[in-house]
Amino acid sequence: MDVPDFPILGSEPVAVELANTLYGSGARQVDFLRSPEWIDLWFSLVGAEHGLMVTAGLGRDAPRVRELRDCVRHLLSAAAGARAPDPRMVDLLNEYATVVPTHPRLEWATDGTRLRRNVDLATGDAAVLGRIAADCIAVLTAPPARSPRRCTGPGCSMLYVKNHSRRRWCHPSCGHRDRQARYHRRRHASGTP
Ligand SMILES: [Zn+2]
Repeated sequence: MDVPDFPILGSEPVAVELANTLYGSGARQVDFLRSPEWIDLWFSLVGAEHGLMVTAGLGRDAPRVRELRDCVRHLLSAAAGARAPDPRMVDLLNEYATVVPTHPRLEWATDGTRLRRNVDLATGDAAVLGRIAADCIAVLTAPPARSPRRCTGPGCSMLYVKNHSRRRWCHPSCGHRDRQARYHRRRHASGTP
């Protein structure tokens, strides 16, 4: 099987990574969760990084994975565009989030760093999806400075969380393409060949 070139940014909350699995818009839209195999592959790539206890293939739960993805994408896009969401999507997200009771766990490293981790009590596919729903709630309720944004790169539709004040692109490569496009537009406008 060919391994698809998943649009994974790497340093984003897992809810944002999930939303980005529907890439582009209109006729050129690509669904990177189009098959159970691709869903399993995607979770094997992002699961461990985000502490998700993916024990078996979530691909068998494909309709629910895609339903949650579409829900998360709708809500994050609404926040990025400062639009009101479909209230049914808010209800759906809350329904997914009910599955994960968690307890906090203190981790005290030798260098003095103290971390609070949330440990899931529930396990299985529903718990994994619940964790992602909970992550989406955390992203949507973060301070405005860290609210979700849509990349302004040419032809890019990726969502990301603004983690520093000047960030405008999902990835530096989009910033590079954006600067190039503006450079060509300026040259074109000034008549320079
Ligand atoms: Zn981008």
